[in-house]
Amino acid sequence: MRIGVPREVKEQEYRVALTPAGAGELVRHGHEVLVEAGAGVGSGFPDDAYLAAGARTAPHADEVWGAAELVLKVKEPIAEEYSRMREGQVLFTFLHLAASRDCTDAILRSGITAIAYETVRAPDGSLPLLAPMSEVAGKLGSQVGAYHLMSPQGGSGVLLGGVPGVRPADVVVLGGGVAGSNAAVVAVGMGARVAVLDTNIARLRELDARFGGRVITIGSNAAEVEKAVLAADLVIGAVLVPGARAPKLVPDTLVARMRPGSVLVDIAIDQGGCFQSSHPTTHTKPTFPVADSLFYCVANMPGAVPHTSTVALTNVTLPYARAIADLGWRSACTADPGLAQGLNADAGQLYSPEVAAAHGLRP
Ligand code: NAD
Repeated sequence: MRIGVPREVKEQEYRVALTPAGAGELVRHGHEVLVEAGAGVGSGFPDDAYLAAGARTAPHADEVWGAAELVLKVKEPIAEEYSRMREGQVLFTFLHLAASRDCTDAILRSGITAIAYETVRAPDGSLPLLAPMSEVAGKLGSQVGAYHLMSPQGGSGVLLGGVPGVRPADVVVLGGGVAGSNAAVVAVGMGARVAVLDTNIARLRELDARFGGRVITIGSNAAEVEKAVLAADLVIGAVLVPGARAPKLVPDTLVARMRPGSVLVDIAIDQGGCFQSSHPTTHTKPTFPVADSLFYCVANMPGAVPHTSTVALTNVTLPYARAIADLGWRSACTADPGLAQGLNADAGQLYSPEVAAAHGLRP
């Protein structure tokens, strides 16, 4: 199959949908890989690395889209890409169509077969193509929290791990899922005192066993959140209620009673955020003050570490891309019902009930 990898054109998106190693893998399976020139540069992969892996490069996106039977991307197509999509072509990428009527209409109009990373399911029902980005965001959550606790960034001037004779920082993680447990890994590694709150006691049991007593686990309710947050130097919000907006767990009245210079990192901002005054920020201006505290609410945290994020994403997308290329999308979906759940649209027909409901369309 002819596989195309265009350069990502969305603002501040430096990831690429295929690494040179992944390109080599597809070439070994007998496929042709065409990469837009410069597509991997933002992730640390020069064109030469793709050429060495047996791929070809093309100077312009039109050529890549024009030749490809399967297009691999990271983000949903934006307006300048709409006219390049066509029927008979397969697009495999993050789509988030429920959030964009324009993109949904463009995909349906084009007739392209659109398979969305975010709705592909593993046999246990989990979302295997979303998990790596939560892992990255979770680990970054503690890292950026530690950075913003430093006085020059507006924080309280507390070192996360302390030093002998000086207490370490108290880190509170709200939500002990994929992002939250990864935040805890880094905070514990930096020497902080860490508490994880979750409503799912089975999850807390797993964390208790995994951390061997290095984190305190607390059943989450309003009273426990209040107690933990008031004692915290750094709060990391990582809750998720699938398909819903994040619950608001930290009201402004509580933030007003926190230690001056405390830092609150809202990883759940892409679902509306779990602190009352959270609003999305960017890597260019990531923080804003609320009372005497600092909020960090970057909605695409993995974008700060494109090399790691690209490799983490392509590690999990490659087996699916290879199956689509080897078998064709229909047989690949028949062989793997979890991949079939990623099918959002084909030949102008919408297959996602969630996207249909979001836009008042018929699935
Ligand atoms: P997850 O499902 O693995 O974990 C969420 C956890 O929150 C679960 O353990 C759940 O029991 C817990 N929870 C739900 N309601 C709670 C409550 N009221 N109190 C305490 N805990 C509660 O989800 P995840 O993959 O870790 O994702 C977490 C969030 O991070 C999501 O909103 C996701 O979209 C977001 N995310 C953001 C970025 C970013 O760049 N900002 C990147 C990746 C993921």
